[in-house]
Amino acid sequence: MEMFGQNVFNQAVMRERLPKAVFKNLKKTIDEGLPLDPTIADVVATAMKEWAIEKGATHFTHWFQPMTGITAEKHDSFISPSEGGALMEFSGKELIKGEPDASSFPSGGLRATFEARGYTAWDCTSPAFVREEGEVITLCIPTAFCSYTGEALDKKTPLLRSMEALSKQALRVLKLFGNTTATRVTSTVGAEQEYFLVDKGFYLERPDLMMAGRTLFGAMSSKGQELEDHYFGSIKERVLAYMKEVNEELWKLGVTAKTQHNEVAPGQFEIAPIFENTNIATDHNQMIMDVLKRIALRHDLVCLLHEKPFAGVNGSGKHNNWSMSSNDGQNLLEPGNTPHENAQFLTFLMATIKAVDTHAGLLRCSCANAGNDHRLGANEAPPAIISIFLGEQLADILDQIVAGATKSSSKNADMKIGVKTLPALPKDATDRNRTSPFAFTGNKFEFRMLGSSFSISGPNIIINTIIADALKEFADKLEKSKNFDADLEKLLQETAKKHKRVVFNGNNYADEWVKEAKKRGLLNIPSTPEALKELVKKEAVELFVAHGVFNDKELHARYEIMLEQYVKTLNIEALTMIDMAKQSIIPAAADYATTLAASITAVTAVSGKLNVSAQKETLEELCDKLGAMNNNVKALEKALEKALDISDVVKQAAAFREKVFSAMLELRANGDALEKIVAANIWPLPTYREMLFIL
Ligand code: ADP
Ligand code: MG
Repeated sequence: MEMFGQNVFNQAVMRERLPKAVFKNLKKTIDEGLPLDPTIADVVATAMKEWAIEKGATHFTHWFQPMTGITAEKHDSFISPSEGGALMEFSGKELIKGEPDASSFPSGGLRATFEARGYTAWDCTSPAFVREEGEVITLCIPTAFCSYTGEALDKKTPLLRSMEALSKQALRVLKLFGNTTATRVTSTVGAEQEYFLVDKGFYLERPDLMMAGRTLFGAMSSKGQELEDHYFGSIKERVLAYMKEVNEELWKLGVTAKTQHNEVAPGQFEIAPIFENTNIATDHNQMIMDVLKRIALRHDLVCLLHEKPFAGVNGSGKHNNWSMSSNDGQNLLEPGNTPHENAQFLTFLMATIKAVDTHAGLLRCSCANAGNDHRLGANEAPPAIISIFLGEQLADILDQIVAGATKSSSKNADMKIGVKTLPALPKDATDRNRTSPFAFTGNKFEFRMLGSSFSISGPNIIINTIIADALKEFADKLEKSKNFDADLEKLLQETAKKHKRVVFNGNNYADEWVKEAKKRGLLNIPSTPEALKELVKKEAVELFVAHGVFNDKELHARYEIMLEQYVKTLNIEALTMIDMAKQSIIPAAADYATTLAASITAVTAVSGKLNVSAQKETLEELCDKLGAMNNNVKALEKALEKALDISDVVKQAAAFREKVFSAMLELRANGDALEKIVAANIWPLPTYREMLFIL
């Protein structure tokens, strides 16, 4: 309890250290999302500095989230010269605004290099914290990052905008249900984070893990995850020691690290915090990923956050548990006990269904990157098709709404909105469905498509905005209504009829679902370059502009940045493969060929009657594979050269997906086949057996 939040400049610390009036002013800003009063900045900065210095900090940094998907920081010391000596200073101006030279961050053409300045602006709704890295202690101030002209260059600004949009529309709907107490609705998120651990020694011997974060070669070990003995198995001591330190570090940072366990694949684990407001949950998830990686090194481990570090066993994702809560204490996705609450719940539920069906492409797009292409659609993660799991009870209710009052059974009559009962849904009333990409789990939705390396910002920007839009449509209609109950019932029925197709309670991994989904007209977008296109479609641009989340320029910039990231990722992977093939695999295989040839000569010299068939057959196979691999390398080099020549990034990304990626797969197949025949003592790379099973 003493440890929790000890490194956070949280409300308790502020209350203690700030003058009453200043604290009240700041708290109002934080709680109600009002603009920050600049006159209090100096006082807050001084208190923050003193607190940080007491903790041992010498430097501060604006901590921001550029489009790289990770966090960025530039440290400045508090030092300021004074009469030959030095003072420790930190002004309100320095707290509120920073001006990092931002020319080397991806900006997708939003910032010409001659206008390199970017600005960071204090996000006082996410608490500042000090980070301890051994002896070095730094005050970190969460900030938004934008261009000179005010365009968002980061993942925080649009997230805050989307939360604003959702709050506005959700409040309109709440008001229609007679709510006079709520003044803000916040989306809430609990993100479950999966990761792999490998011994650092193996990591350092694998160029692919170092350069690409995943194995680009590697034959599967004789055992994988088929015995299901790792999932929830007892946690090894070395890993437990690591988890203990991770938890302590996170607790100090005010992150509620709660759940930890072995995941399905050998060497795979999960950590989950308790949910909180989406902005803070996003910052905290970044901190979780950072802490996971940093602490691992102290244990001679490396934490891999890549979506698919090892072929042949499960990859890693992130489950984004999402709901909305109003500041008068309601979870808006909690089915209530009274008819009134039920009607309100059904309205928010239906808005979610409508949003997910209407904007499935955007949701798919929000989970697209090169790493996640290895998961979505494979038999472990949800398929690339977006659908909703509601569970039996709610699905039945949906059917009743569709059937409406026209159906004569008494059960259906109960469903008239605002009347009778919606049975209180016990939290776990529904069978756990693990295959659905968007599953209702009692009082929240679990979006399961995210990759483990993602900032959760992107997907939540999309969820917040599309649901805000559905709620807006509802509010626009109902605010004009003269007979609320009747019109609401009609609206829900229409919505249910129109969007029911997105609800699927079966097995999302089955082939039949792919066929069925096609019949229903649901999107199935297999790859990143295709998925990203959704972001700049006319309807998407209109949606984001209408809710003030992105302008047209920002959206196109993001599209370009994400395509470039895709291309660069594949380029790095292809180059690494070529290096590994030429510098280690081919030489090792050639060495082994020499050994075999020498053995044949030597043995035959002793007596022509001796059986050298093992050496001969192996040599033959080896040379075949070696030759094939040589051709694969040349083909990959050619495909790469051609793709790199394309100047249009949309076409370039497509070429990388269609040509470069397939050439990589062919090269890998021969490389892995060689691994199976080359002598273990000659093979130059740590194997899957070692990397997955030695911890
Ligand atoms: P699972 O069964 O999916 O592994 P976990 O218990 O590991 O579930 O994780 C569930 C996550 O959902 C936790 O982070 C939890 O805090 C979060 N959660 C619970 N209620 C809400 C809510 N109202 N909004 C958002 N997230 C929530
Ligand atoms: Mg889960």
